[in-house]
This record gives sequence, structure tokens and C-alpha cells, in this order.
Amino acid sequence: MVGDPGLDELYREIILEHYRSPKRKRHLEAHNRHADGSNPLCGDQIVVEARVDDGRVSDVGFTGQGCSISQASASLMTDYVVGRPVDEALEAVGAFQQMMTTGEAPSGVDLGDIEALLGVAKFPVRVKCASLGWKTLEQALKRGEPASEAAPVTTDERSM
Ligand code: ZN
Repeated sequence: MVGDPGLDELYREIILEHYRSPKRKRHLEAHNRHADGSNPLCGDQIVVEARVDDGRVSDVGFTGQGCSISQASASLMTDYVVGRPVDEALEAVGAFQQMMTTGEAPSGVDLGDIEALLGVAKFPVRVKCASLGWKTLEQALKRGEPASEAAPVTTDERSM
């Protein structure tokens, strides 16, 4: 994917960097939110664990495996949402989905480096890879505590 001519050089660098050295890719022992996500179309799997205190994402981590886009996107996601209020994290999920739908930077929210994934919007199959971490985070945060046995998240459906 990262060799796609549709992604420009700078964006490729950011994505590769997060793929090679993902941020917060580890189990979070003290988590109180979690969700499992998968994208069967590509074989991507991501588990998001988060620690929410007083309405704020005080820590977040992910584990799993998959293509460079899925892993880089999850890494960028954790980097963005850590330390933010849950509301803002969910707002970022919406902004990210908007970005994947429109192929344009979202208005009103500055996603920073995450906009490196803009080029992915041109490839519908890859949008499912890029969205996986975000959809999984969303479910983890919305599910609340204690973790219920909700169905795992999958991006391989009309959910986009
Ligand atoms: Zn993938």
C-alpha cells in the first residue's frame, strides 16, 4: 500500500514511520475500556485498550497485526487521543471518518499528522484498513464499563 503512487512522499514517510515504530502499541494493564476489531478483507486485527478517568482518556494502547495502513492509523489514533476528553476523542473519530468519506481534511478539527492518511480515501478497500483502529476505539469508549460482550467491530460491512 505505501508504495501506491496516490500517496505523496511526505505522507508515505509519516505512515511508514508509524508502521515501523508504532506509538503505544502495547497492552494496557490498567485499562477500563476495550474493544476488539477486525477487517477480514485484509486480515487486520486490532485490540484497543483505554484507561478513562473523569471523562478523559488518560492512557490508551493497541495490539494486533495487519497491513501498514491499519497499524499506522491505529498508532496515529492513539497519539492523538491520549490525554483528551472522551468527547474530543469521539469527535476525532467522526472527523476521521469524514476525512475518509470526502477525501478532504476535516473542517473544525485539526488532526495534524493523521491527515497523512488523506490519500487513503481514494482507495475504498484501504479505507477499511485505516478506519479499523478508530472504529475500535469508538466502540471501546462507547461501550463503557464494565466491558460487555458486544460483537467485535468489523470494518468489512456497510458501517462506513
Ligand atoms: Zn489492511
